[in-house]
Amino acid sequence: MTVDVITRDGSQVRVPDDAVDGLASRMRGALVRGDDPAADAEPCEVWNAMHVGRPALTARCSGTADVVDAVNFAREWGLLLAVRGGGHSVAGFSTVQDGMVVDLSGMRGVQVDPDRRLARVQAGALLGDVDRETQAFGLATPLGRVSETGVAGLSLGGGYGHLQNRHGLSCDNIVAAQVVCADGEIRTASAGVNPDLYWALRGGGGNFGIVASFTFRLCPLGPTVAFAGTFYPLEDLADVERRWRDHVVGAPDAVTSFVVSLTFPAAPGMPEVIHDRPVAVVGGLYAGDPDDGMRVLAPLRELGTPLFDLSQPMPYSVVQSSFDALFPRGVLRAYWKSQYLDALTDDAIDAIAARALDRPGPMTLVNTFHIGGAVHAVGAEETAFAERSSPFMVSFDTMWTDAAQDSEAVDWGRSAWQEMAKFGNGNVFLNFTGLADEPAQAGVDSAFGRNLRRLAQVKAAYDPDNLFQVNNNVLPAS
Ligand SMILES: Cc1cc2nc3c(=O)[nH]c(=O)nc-3n(C[C@H](O)[C@H](O)[C@H](O)COP(=O)(O)OP(=O)(O)OC[C@H]3O[C@@H](n4cnc5c(N)ncnc54)[C@H](O)[C@@H]3O)c2cc1C
Repeated sequence: MTVDVITRDGSQVRVPDDAVDGLASRMRGALVRGDDPAADAEPCEVWNAMHVGRPALTARCSGTADVVDAVNFAREWGLLLAVRGGGHSVAGFSTVQDGMVVDLSGMRGVQVDPDRRLARVQAGALLGDVDRETQAFGLATPLGRVSETGVAGLSLGGGYGHLQNRHGLSCDNIVAAQVVCADGEIRTASAGVNPDLYWALRGGGGNFGIVASFTFRLCPLGPTVAFAGTFYPLEDLADVERRWRDHVVGAPDAVTSFVVSLTFPAAPGMPEVIHDRPVAVVGGLYAGDPDDGMRVLAPLRELGTPLFDLSQPMPYSVVQSSFDALFPRGVLRAYWKSQYLDALTDDAIDAIAARALDRPGPMTLVNTFHIGGAVHAVGAEETAFAERSSPFMVSFDTMWTDAAQDSEAVDWGRSAWQEMAKFGNGNVFLNFTGLADEPAQAGVDSAFGRNLRRLAQVKAAYDPDNLFQVNNNVLPAS
């Protein structure tokens, strides 16, 4: 008996049972075969329902040693390998049909050192795991806005969130990482050890090895923070967003703010006036004293005539999961694309508003994010994450549930994005990229900008044969 697995050159290799059994016996976690009927009973493991592939082999790692064995196995057999942290890759990078997956979802440990203000985080941890442990000490590290997203993919690709303007991107707060490289060696990456690898990991994605654990810098925060969440009628978006833009560009760095257009579901506990109603939500978090924060955030609540205003001091952990219900795992089909803008002109706002009113379905979001402060304080070449100057990012998060609507929905997202390109500076956020099988290489290359050459050199040093290629792929320098 054999297991047929896709290789990196697109052919198929017949891996004999005794080789598979050998790996299984070395691992502490389970090695699941795609032809095992038990695999059918597994809960959905990837967030985007468009990408539910069936790997031939899934190594459910329980620690770094399992990752080493799985990497060695994939390299020796030439297998096409995907890596799954939290499984939230919108483009579908966390699984691979008939290939091999290294699944880190069993590695969710978080250990906080409150004296040194550091957290050691295993690479399968979700954002909520980290927030839960760090908040127990009144500490936090910048992460994203949906608590079930994976720390690994988010922070290796940059990582925007409610603390970014005050404390930087998630990747800016990585102090060290333990990485299993393509040769199976475990390396530390930090400012003092393998600094080229450390540089590349902060924004370069999963190209350079499998991170088994991160060490993040922590800042004092909460447990209560000031949060603005004001719901305006979607028809008023153009006016509201003009006033929002004029305000946020001069707001203190402690404020991180955004505008989300959506049709709010009929959620229990929320007032009926917003049930199933298209709304523009102006959100913002103040990273500092909550009373000061409520005063500073007040203008975000006065940008028009709100339908409803939930702004108030609230636990940071509640803020961090307040959008979760909009993004259930394995249910939504999704196509997200973004554009960075050097200026949010009136014409750009009108285009955003027109698209927000013309969304292909109630689950699709149109977002504008304000970016500045600590994100811009880092030089474009200091880390691999090159986008350090755009003050705004617009994203079209096209989401639907019926597979029959795939092509219509993707077309809408793509055309909205192309239209916004007129107002953008040509750069995109690589964690919000369309589909894995789109001809994306040009977009990937331009997103890394001036850093691409150096990234290709680091790739050549640590992964010359491109073992880690199911990602926003950087090709090794030749
Ligand atoms: C609902 C939702 C909300 C989001 N919110 C935000 C947000 O607020 N801010 C933001 O910046 N982004 C956000 N994103 C985008 C998110 O950052 C990316 O989708 C990210 O890739 C998710 O990380 P993951 O570990 O869950 O992904 P996975 O799908 O597991 O992995 C994504 C990529 O990272 C690589 N990777 C994962 N783990 C490792 C590892 N340990 N070592 C090496 N490579 C690894 C994988 O190979 C893959 O290429 C959101 C996405 C979704 C679906």
